[in-house]
Amino acid sequence: MTQEHAQKAGFETRAIHAGYEPDASTGAVIPPIYATSTYKQDGVGGLRGGYEYSRSANPTRTALEGALAAVEEGERGFAFASGLAAEHTLVKAALQPGDHVVFPDDAYGGTHRLFDKVERAWGVDHTTAPVNDVDAVRAAVRPGVTKMVWLETPTNPLLNIGDIEALAAVAHEAGALLVVDNTFASPYLQQPLTLGADVVLHSTTKYVGGHSDVVGGALVVRDLDLAERITFHQNAIGAVPGPFDAFLTHRGLKTLAVRMDRHCDNAEAVVDFLAGHPAVSHVVYPGLPDHPGHAVASRQMKRYGGMVSFRVTGGEEQALRACERAQVFTLGESLGGVESLIEHPGRMTHASVAGTDLEVPSDLVRLSVGIETAADLVADLEQALG
Ligand SMILES: *Cc1c(COP(=O)(O)O)cnc(C)c1O
Repeated sequence: MTQEHAQKAGFETRAIHAGYEPDASTGAVIPPIYATSTYKQDGVGGLRGGYEYSRSANPTRTALEGALAAVEEGERGFAFASGLAAEHTLVKAALQPGDHVVFPDDAYGGTHRLFDKVERAWGVDHTTAPVNDVDAVRAAVRPGVTKMVWLETPTNPLLNIGDIEALAAVAHEAGALLVVDNTFASPYLQQPLTLGADVVLHSTTKYVGGHSDVVGGALVVRDLDLAERITFHQNAIGAVPGPFDAFLTHRGLKTLAVRMDRHCDNAEAVVDFLAGHPAVSHVVYPGLPDHPGHAVASRQMKRYGGMVSFRVTGGEEQALRACERAQVFTLGESLGGVESLIEHPGRMTHASVAGTDLEVPSDLVRLSVGIETAADLVADLEQALG
């Protein structure tokens, strides 16, 4: 399939065909893992296809970057060694010392640490605001100084929803960029660039890779000037994935649509079960009509995703016990893989915010619902809560 054809095709076709056409010399249907650091030049400066050195570009990475751009409906995609490498490169490419950023008060912990401990020392300060309160975000923006509004939706672990269109307007009124960390939704469920965002960011470690076997990050943009600056900084900073990691991430991306539909089906089955369980006091899922972000999520997401959180009636002790008794759900951090994971945010992913405004309830359990047999997942939760 030609790239021109692939770009105009549906989501699933783009995920499978964009970024790469079968190799001209061998017909290889899948991008080879180009394990090479350098490239033979045809005379000094005579680069073949622009390849000079693999920090700057590598064909396995180029294929992944093309596919990432296509699934997010962007112009240019960039792959990085991790989600945080993508974040740091974006900050350096788009901001200057003295600039200010607004980001979610329940942002991913690593994002908070990056801004608090690394970017602040470079002179980029930040204010936090709840993503589900457009007025609070507007009030946190300092016109002319705030150059970036950073959004995660849904957030972790309470799955708060930010209105991408409304927050794009808030950012643009102030002359700032809207960055959306789209990790929890994945490009299949939500395409922020089509709703006015300027930059989409992923930890491809999660749903895009989808198999818990590779760490990676991505940025996708539409604006070619911004793309130019990111290209420069991607090479200048050098936090790029190697060809093996790029291959694995690209392989994961091809099945994103079918995996996400099953993640959503299974999450719905788990939510139905938990909502009727006497040991469960509250289920947090944007697909539930009582979720405060339900209306916005229904507007901007195709479905509600694979992440589910719930509170138990028996307090922290019961929450910890459920995590430890689960057998199909593996006790562990991270998310977005084919296997189901269970964790206790208060003691695990969110232990560092204990005692702050961001402390999460101690009776909260977070699930990354995988794509196993739904009945097995429900039966496992039943025994874990019993
Ligand atoms: C995991 C994660 C990140 C960081 O990505 P890494 O690949 O671990 O560096 C950023 N944002 C969100 C929402 C995440 O879940």
